[in-house]
Amino acid sequence: MGAAPEVLKQHLIDPEICIRCNTCEEACPVKAITHDSRNYVVDPAICKQCMACVPPCPTGAIDNWRMVLKSAAYPLAAQFEWDELPAEAPLPEGVAAEATAVVEAAAAPAAAAAADVQGFETAVTATSFGATVPPWSAAHAYTNLYGPKNPTTATVVGNYRVTDAGTESDTHHIVLDFGSMPFPVLEGQSIGILPPGVDDRGKPHVARQYSIASPRNGERPGYNNLSLTVKRVTVDHDGRPVRGVCSNYLCDLKKGDTVKVIGPFGASFLMPNHPRSNIVMICTGTGSAPMRAMTEYRRRLRGKFEGGRLMLFFGARTQKELPYFGPLMNLPRDFIDLNFAFSRAPDSPKRYVQDLMRERAADLAALLKDGDTFVYVCGLKSMEAGVLEALRDVAAQAGIQWEELAGRLKREGRLHLETY
Ligand SMILES: Cc1cc2nc3c(=O)[nH]c(=O)nc-3n(C[C@H](O)[C@H](O)[C@H](O)COP(=O)(O)OP(=O)(O)OC[C@H]3O[C@@H](n4cnc5c(N)ncnc54)[C@H](O)[C@@H]3O)c2cc1C
Ligand code: SF4
Ligand code: SF4
Repeated sequence: MGAAPEVLKQHLIDPEICIRCNTCEEACPVKAITHDSRNYVVDPAICKQCMACVPPCPTGAIDNWRMVLKSAAYPLAAQFEWDELPAEAPLPEGVAAEATAVVEAAAAPAAAAAADVQGFETAVTATSFGATVPPWSAAHAYTNLYGPKNPTTATVVGNYRVTDAGTESDTHHIVLDFGSMPFPVLEGQSIGILPPGVDDRGKPHVARQYSIASPRNGERPGYNNLSLTVKRVTVDHDGRPVRGVCSNYLCDLKKGDTVKVIGPFGASFLMPNHPRSNIVMICTGTGSAPMRAMTEYRRRLRGKFEGGRLMLFFGARTQKELPYFGPLMNLPRDFIDLNFAFSRAPDSPKRYVQDLMRERAADLAALLKDGDTFVYVCGLKSMEAGVLEALRDVAAQAGIQWEELAGRLKREGRLHLETY
């Protein structure tokens, strides 16, 4: 008698609810996840089933499994073509009983590797340093109330530019009202927007994700609305001219237009609720959205209790391209410690957020030593490594052992990274 066939519990991603946020691809320690312009897929030959990608996925799309014969696992080529997951098919008769152990081992070592805080000699990724748990005092976040199959509708009640007219960077502050539909959110969460129309394969566009820029009690306090900070994408990551589908759709919306919304998403990049907490915010461009939400929530509570410190490091190419520059400048200096870095300011050398962080090393180190400090990083993917290196250097200069601190920040939900 030949050996019994091996059965695989195959790890798959549901293309119908995946919002293409890339979180899982970054989280996978063995690079089993890849994507094309449409789908995120898992390579059955590489996946170790370590589960490192499952908790960070904002939609649960990642948590799908099918029992298949290992020899008949769904190949990547098939997964790239899917519009929906195939139904669970029964295994050939008698196979389940005879099958050798289901292939789902090797979990523990890979999970440990994912959880480890790695040295800077290895890749600096969100997984190695970013927390996947919220601060201990965060409020409960509602997630996934609406999905692509049952989106809700919001009405545009405001849409205006927040970067100087005449600059290349066209960023809009867009206010969406949910009327009587429940859409409870917290600062740091995001929503998905379903742009109308179809892609070049004739399939409906998939949702794009946007961070919420307003506090939990509304862009206008007491109203069922929220705001977004959306940058019009006119060139791709390689600088080639392009017309981003959803960002242009959003930036062109008029008051009274309606949009299809899914979400909310995010259960870890949340602000601490206890008043004595210090919040360090490091952002570039539209990464300012969650920082605006947190700052505004704290501002609304001002005077009601003795609050911890707020420290903001904000980078843009020029002052005119920095969203919300005017309103930020109006905030009292004893409420928030503002630090701006401009990488293309005329007549002054390039400065990035990490340069500012090093300049403010003494104050930053004092905050890092405080167990009530929570750090948030949001913006361009390219900023992440530099910011983490700056944190390491600031810690080292103050005699703090970085690997130990980074591990603690991650475990305690005190260092949050969201870059795209
Ligand atoms: C967690 C998360 C939060 C986000 N929050 C915000 C936010 O608050 N504000 C915001 O404006 N965006 C945010 N984004 C990005 C947003 O989801 C879209 O990716 C972005 O608006 C581009 O979508 P599009 O449909 O206009 O472009 P697409 O039609 O999807 O892309 C067009 C082309 O441009 C490239 N491209 C995509 N995005 C960018 C970009 N940002 N810069 C340059 N080229 C790009 C693509 O690779 C493609 O080649 C967030 C993304 C994530 C994952
Ligand atoms: S389960 Fe682990 S190995 Fe498999 S795709 Fe997710 S992170 Fe990668
Ligand atoms: S929604 Fe989940 S499965 Fe889809 S890309 Fe994001 S993390 Fe991955």
